Amino acid sequence: MKRREFIKKSSAGGLLAGGVTTGLISAAPAVHAGTKIKWKMVTTWPKNFPGLGTGANNLARLITEMSGGRLRVKVYGAKELVPAFEVFDAVSRGAAQMGHGAAYYWKGKAPAGQFFAAVPFGMNAQEMNAWLYYGGGEKLWRDLYQRFNVIPAAAGNTGVQMGGWFNREINSVADLKGLKMRIPGLGAEVLKRAGGTPVSLPGGEIYTSLQSGAIDATEWVGPYNDLAFGLYKAAKYYYYPGWHEPGSVLEALVNKKAYEELPKDLQSIVMNACKIVNTDMLAEYTARNNAALHTLISKHKVKLRPFPDDVLKKLAQLSDEVVKEVAAKDKHAQKTYRSFMAFREQVMAWHKVSEQAFLRAREL
Ligand code: CA
Repeated sequence: MKRREFIKKSSAGGLLAGGVTTGLISAAPAVHAGTKIKWKMVTTWPKNFPGLGTGANNLARLITEMSGGRLRVKVYGAKELVPAFEVFDAVSRGAAQMGHGAAYYWKGKAPAGQFFAAVPFGMNAQEMNAWLYYGGGEKLWRDLYQRFNVIPAAAGNTGVQMGGWFNREINSVADLKGLKMRIPGLGAEVLKRAGGTPVSLPGGEIYTSLQSGAIDATEWVGPYNDLAFGLYKAAKYYYYPGWHEPGSVLEALVNKKAYEELPKDLQSIVMNACKIVNTDMLAEYTARNNAALHTLISKHKVKLRPFPDDVLKKLAQLSDEVVKEVAAKDKHAQKTYRSFMAFREQVMAWHKVSEQAFLRAREL
């Protein structure tokens, strides 16, 4: 309605201004009245899951709003259209035009995908974005999914996660021996090599497993999501930092054919909406984690503990091995590993004299 009113008003103005302007304006409705396109977005998250699922909702809403409703995106939670781990296939074959998840879920198809999600002791959110947008990372990511007819884009970041909830203290590497911990991805392999027993559990089973003693520890995301899950009721100690997920990137997937069929302006809206959500989610996590951490400590009296340095050093050394083995899986993984590690080394040198130096200076 509003647009129609606007066009009407403009036309009136155009008539006053003369024939040339009127000609331009009479062409405008044809552009605006272009076919309405409907897309489905399947996600690996339960519908409306705080932070991750709501990030997917934001992405769909932004695309719909920014396109003035010309491209409407409807979000489906895990299992609504396809199960979580079939999101990639659904987008690849065009059953859904978009997806939202994380690249480490598809490591069976594309091992190099793990470099675009979470690398233990890898890069934080700011560094990942720098690598993706200005360090060649995004190009490698797109190349990786090309044969699946899928275009990836960063669409969210959790920031540095927490080390997890433990029912026993970790004072030395020896305390990791026999530790049954829910931890996914490359971090799981690292824990295994440190003598622990990684357990794979979906989010919904974490709380009861920790409370019953079926597991000794779990990681999840950070204070915001962990507080909502009530994990503080099932474990005594909350360890930091999340060495295994220093800046997990959430991923938007777009079916290549559906994307190429869009006019240029809608293509730009889709990609820029991903960029907005990528930034917005990190801001949301930073704000909500900081509030939730305060609640966990002041209200629920959670015992916050840093991992001892020698434990972190050992885990870092094992992570090096594990990540190198991912790189050896295929040519693309090798190429991605080299790009990732070269960027990481340089950005570490830069951040040593910028972010890191500033954070230290602020504490003095
Ligand atoms: Ca996690």
